[in-house]
Amino acid sequence: MNCLPNDKRAVVNWAMREHRAACRWSPNQLRHTRATQLRAKYGIELTRTVLGHSDIATSAIYAERDLAVDSIAYTHLRPLGSPRDARKRFQADRDWSTFATAVNEHLTTPAAVEALEKLAELVSVEPCCLLCTCPEPDRCHRSLVADALAEVKPVEVVHVRLLQE
Ligand SMILES: [Zn+2]
Repeated sequence: MNCLPNDKRAVVNWAMREHRAACRWSPNQLRHTRATQLRAKYGIELTRTVLGHSDIATSAIYAERDLAVDSIAYTHLRPLGSPRDARKRFQADRDWSTFATAVNEHLTTPAAVEALEKLAELVSVEPCCLLCTCPEPDRCHRSLVADALAEVKPVEVVHVRLLQE
C-alpha cells in the first residue's frame, strides 16, 4: 500500500539511492583501508608481505590511489629503479660502493637516460619527490638518481629523512 504522495515517494527514493551510493562498500575496501594503514605505519615492504603480493608494484598501487585523493600525481619511472640483481646483492652484503657502481652504470642505459629526461621535464613543471622503500636516502638508489638528474638538469635536492622517535 502506498502511504506517501507520489512526490514524497520520489524524494524518499532519491534519498535512498543517495544513501546507497554513499554507503556502498565492498570487502575489498576493508583490505584497502588496512593496507593503507600498514603502508603508512610500517612501509610498503611489510604491506606487500601482508597482502601476499609477489610484486611490490602491486602494493604501490595503494600508494598511487592514496596520492590521487590528495591531487598528487604518481609517475612510475621503472627504468630508474635499481637493477634487481644489484639490489638483491646489496640487501645481502650491504656493500654500498659496489651497489652504487652498479646503479650508476645502470643509469647510463638508454632506457634510464630516457627516464631521467622525463624526470627532468617533470621537475621543471613542479616539485617532485623520488620515492623508494628504503628508509634513509644515504643508502638508497634514489640519492644516485637525484645525482644523475642533477647532471641532466640543475636541481635543488632536499632529502626527506625519517623523524627519530
Ligand atoms: Zn631505496
